[in-house]
Amino acid sequence: MTTQSTPLTCPACQAIDRADGVEDGNLFKVEHYTAKNENKLFAAILRTQDRVADQVTNFAGSLNFVYIHSVWFGVWILLNVGLIGASAEFDKFPFGLLTMIVSLEAIFLSTFVMVSQNRQAARADVRAELDFETNLRSEIWSVHIGQALGVDANHVEEVVKLAIAGASKQTS
Ligand SMILES: [Zn+2]
Repeated sequence: MTTQSTPLTCPACQAIDRADGVEDGNLFKVEHYTAKNENKLFAAILRTQDRVADQVTNFAGSLNFVYIHSVWFGVWILLNVGLIGASAEFDKFPFGLLTMIVSLEAIFLSTFVMVSQNRQAARADVRAELDFETNLRSEIWSVHIGQALGVDANHVEEVVKLAIAGASKQTS
């Protein structure tokens, strides 16, 4: 943690500093938010095994999955109720082998779904972090632009506080 308490000489930065209630020379805990290596994060997310998990989940969520299973169950059951003769029955009613295969399939599928969900959550986290950095950057820029244009930073900050209070009152 680097907490510089050097007085800020730039008036726009002083305005940003005042916005959190105390004028202490710390704009925000900027070091907390510095850009983590996004490429590293994305690379971790794009690992091959995770992509495979995504593909499995995508397939399991498709109508093809339903069609294939309908045909599979239909053929299996018709064969085993003796439709084409008793010699073709390999898994008689109540189809114990089919039950076991489908149970195992369900276990693995639910795991794949959870892996995919974790992956999507990680992706959303990376996006949120990038959004945050963009917001931070645009806030700092707009305060400096306002300073250059002679906008009253304290007045704007008052309005922002009122607007946020009003918005949160409306949503609650
Ligand atoms: Zn500044």
